[in-house]
Amino acid sequence: MSKPRSLIAGNWKMNGLSADGWALADAIVQGARDLPAGRAELLVCPPATLIGLVAEAVTGSPVALGGQDCHADRSGAHTGDVSAAMLADLGCRYVIVGHSERRADHGESSATVRAKAEAAQAAGLSAIVCVGETWAEREAGKTEEVVTAQVAESLPAASTSGNLVVAYEPVWAIGSGRTATPEQVAEVHALIRRQLGSRMDDAGAVRILYGGSVKPANAVELLAVAHVDGALVGGSSLKAGDFLAIAAAAPAQAG
Ligand code: PEP
Repeated sequence: MSKPRSLIAGNWKMNGLSADGWALADAIVQGARDLPAGRAELLVCPPATLIGLVAEAVTGSPVALGGQDCHADRSGAHTGDVSAAMLADLGCRYVIVGHSERRADHGESSATVRAKAEAAQAAGLSAIVCVGETWAEREAGKTEEVVTAQVAESLPAASTSGNLVVAYEPVWAIGSGRTATPEQVAEVHALIRRQLGSRMDDAGAVRILYGGSVKPANAVELLAVAHVDGALVGGSSLKAGDFLAIAAAAPAQAG
């Protein structure tokens, strides 16, 4: 089976005020026009405060919009939270759930992540479910055990390639400048693909992203690894030139 079309997703995290957000989104929209057609799908995930503004900037362009998190409930008494339906209402097509910063900063368990992913799918969004081991877990030889458990417990039962993306993000590689080697990435992505295969009919079409210090200098090598169908990019997604260069590094695939 051929690789699915790559998804290059930018996670802006808690960065940007209105002017920066508009300028960054606009530069990505303009630059996306120069990318080879069909090379990769581009996605930007701004902080919640900028989603409405960035929605305007990307309207009519091939750049998709996503949120960085959502609540598991559709509405209600959850001060400060944002629901998947609210994200969809603003034009989002994706939402990241289970990012390691959410799992660590907000104590989110895999059960919580799954509930959020279910809410996202119910609202018509694709859930980008993040999994990945810490350095201590890798050192202890527990990478396979940890990732297998996170996948088993975080993915909704009703997932399909149309509403699920999995992101393998080793915690030790996020924002650290330390990238997993192609061999390490290949091993875990193959593991995730096998696990998806045991629970879904169209597992081969589910995109599995790698995330962790992806930059233009390492993107070609990482995106060429088997079962790597794109990247979840943090720091390098805040510079339009770097983000576009990563997108340009994606191998050409039929959509
Ligand atoms: C991320 O936050 O998802 C991420 C991969 O960050 P960075 O690219 O900065 O390592």
